[in-house]
Amino acid sequence: MAARGHTGPILPGGTLGILGGGQLGSMFAAAAKRMGYRVEAISDVADCPAAIHCDRLHVGSFTDAALLARVAADCDAVTFEFENVPVEAGRALAAAVPVRPDPEVLHTTQDRAREKAFLSAHGFACAPFRIVDAHAGLKQAVAEIGLPAVLKTAAFGYDGKGQVKLLAAGDVDAAWARCGAGPDGSRRLVLEGFVDFDCEISVVAARGVDGTVAAFPPKRNDHAHHILDVSSVPARLPDGVLAEATTVATRILETLGVVGVACVEFFVSRDGRVLVNEIAPRTHNSGHLTIEACETSQFEQQVRAVCGLPLGSTRLRSPAAMANLLGDCWTAGDPDWAAALGVPGVRLHLYGKREARPGRKMGHLTALAATVEEAVERVTTARRLACRG
Ligand code: AMP
Repeated sequence: MAARGHTGPILPGGTLGILGGGQLGSMFAAAAKRMGYRVEAISDVADCPAAIHCDRLHVGSFTDAALLARVAADCDAVTFEFENVPVEAGRALAAAVPVRPDPEVLHTTQDRAREKAFLSAHGFACAPFRIVDAHAGLKQAVAEIGLPAVLKTAAFGYDGKGQVKLLAAGDVDAAWARCGAGPDGSRRLVLEGFVDFDCEISVVAARGVDGTVAAFPPKRNDHAHHILDVSSVPARLPDGVLAEATTVATRILETLGVVGVACVEFFVSRDGRVLVNEIAPRTHNSGHLTIEACETSQFEQQVRAVCGLPLGSTRLRSPAAMANLLGDCWTAGDPDWAAALGVPGVRLHLYGKREARPGRKMGHLTALAATVEEAVERVTTARRLACRG
């Protein structure tokens, strides 16, 4: 594929490609369409959320060279909406069309071991960790890090998948057995010290082609069963903690050379330390409330960054809270949307997924209010009413 050079910004009328067809791709496509772009997506299934907003959905595999060549020929720039895209696909595309963020950012962040090595090489504070590839190595790592600790698979882990908590020395064998081997029988794992955190926060930020960074206000994130449950903003933490998280996120985007949007998730320890948990080089679930709460949404910001346009204002217009709607909400039948939407200040987003499986992210609710406490109250009340308790 021959490289195509762009001298200026990619303007409305241009075509943007997205690797992945999930809800993040769908909301990116909606923002891009509103701004006058054409959007093409690659997904392995036809019936995906991005199909709703894309001009063209390519159903196929990221390893299909002919498909990648077609997308490169159609698009002025390509981005991705989830990390588990093969880096080789990104590299093949990048030879022909700008891929933003660069596939090398994906390479670093899609593997926990590489991500941790990056963080420690550049002095970004995170939980103590060891990279483990053998049973004996795990025992040694436990001796060095101490317990409790969390063992995580290096690749393809998200929302707590591929994670085991170790509480006692006797847990080592079971944890080793549970963190599965790769297709070749090898294991790449990361053992992390368990952080006794006060709360979790995240900073979604964008970096433009010119190196300008614009960070959204940090969100407080409450998880249930390792999956994000409620995000809220302002995060109700001291200004110094919020400023530190914003500075660290900005420096991470700069150090990685991100062009596009990325999210940095943090633990705030009980003694006030701000520790990086993980980096996602894309829009993030905790940033969904920017659609209603900020002057620019994370999805419009991704369009602007990917296209080389000026970044939009990230100013918070109102305190806000977002509650995820998982498939579990459908257990007792269709949710009562009318009841949820009767709560003042509440907005509903459904992603168009047909099958409501437990734990599957089907949509979210956002509430705006005069205070963040009221926004959390509104959004959780709306969800309780929708999901019938
Ligand atoms: P992750 O997929 O690494 O983001 O982990 C999912 C969730 O598990 C996090 O949001 C935390 O709530 C919890 N968790 C993961 N790693 C740790 C850790 N080292 N210490 C405490 N809690 C953790």
